[in-house]
Amino acid sequence: MTNSTAAPPSLSIVVPLYNEEGNVAPLLARIAGILERLPNLPSHEIVLVNDGSKDGTLAAIRAEMRARPNVVLVNLSRNFGHQLAASAGIEIAQGDAVVLMDGDLQDPPELIAEFVAKWREGFDVVYAVRRTRKGESAFKLFTARLFYRTIKRLTKVSIPVDTGDFRLMSRRVVNALKQSPERHRFLRGLVSWVGYNQIGVEYDRDERLSGETKYPLPKMLRFAIDGITSFSDVPLRFASYLGFVASVVAFVYALVVVGFKLFSLHPPGYTRGWASTIVAVLFLGGVQLISLGILGEYIGRIYDEVKGRPLYLISEIERS
Ligand code: UDP
Ligand code: MG
Repeated sequence: MTNSTAAPPSLSIVVPLYNEEGNVAPLLARIAGILERLPNLPSHEIVLVNDGSKDGTLAAIRAEMRARPNVVLVNLSRNFGHQLAASAGIEIAQGDAVVLMDGDLQDPPELIAEFVAKWREGFDVVYAVRRTRKGESAFKLFTARLFYRTIKRLTKVSIPVDTGDFRLMSRRVVNALKQSPERHRFLRGLVSWVGYNQIGVEYDRDERLSGETKYPLPKMLRFAIDGITSFSDVPLRFASYLGFVASVVAFVYALVVVGFKLFSLHPPGYTRGWASTIVAVLFLGGVQLISLGILGEYIGRIYDEVKGRPLYLISEIERS
């Protein structure tokens, strides 16, 4: 697909940044080093999305822009979160292919060369699969493993395991993403959903260069629930299954009770009925609350979508 402007940048690198002041300069240096060495690449741009950082990230970006060409600053009006900041960058990017990566150098820019090679072979999506992950807690490794495998089981879209958002997307994939207005965005799922020719390349994930993770446990959980609810209705059916099983058990038990009554016998626990009653009440109460909670998750998302607010607001765009 061609762009109407005279010399379209053929490759865009999109990086969402939230409180990454210490990482901006080393990141740009490494990306620029890689891009310089890539053959047959007429032009490129590096789109840095400042996602409402509270530290010196914005100043660091502007300082770099004074010394470097081809940098695009997209300054958001406040913090909108990783997935929306990435979406803003993808929207602004003009390249024939767009690489999305983190700003903490956990995604090694050196992989971009491999991405581009595969893209030139004709692949539309080249995603990076984490062979190993350095500097992550055992807890994060375990929950991440669990998450990728759970979502694989629950969804019809085949979302590759151990794969984050670090990837290259061709223009037609980017255009497809731009047509998906959903706000609880799970980009890696959306990209899988788009289809075309996709391929993974393995890499070893580095430690974050400086600063700390912006995904503490509660945010990770939110993200996991977003991913599952955006791509699966299995949890909704789970509520029906639970209800069905509980009803069958209740019906069988009712038959037993009536039978005992007809033959003037005492059902088990007749004299001490408290325990069985309380167990039944608590169990059913639990099942109902879980089901309501699952319904609530989906209804909350419908509510968010129906409001139709913009996904993010851009305060300014600057190019160097
Ligand atoms: N990020 C962002 N907005 C946020 C949180 C994170 O733009 O609200 C960026 C962050 O600066 C980084 C990327 O998203 O470039 C991934 O975040 P992080 O490295 O904290 O995630 P982790 O690697 O720990 O999963
Ligand atoms: Mg990181």
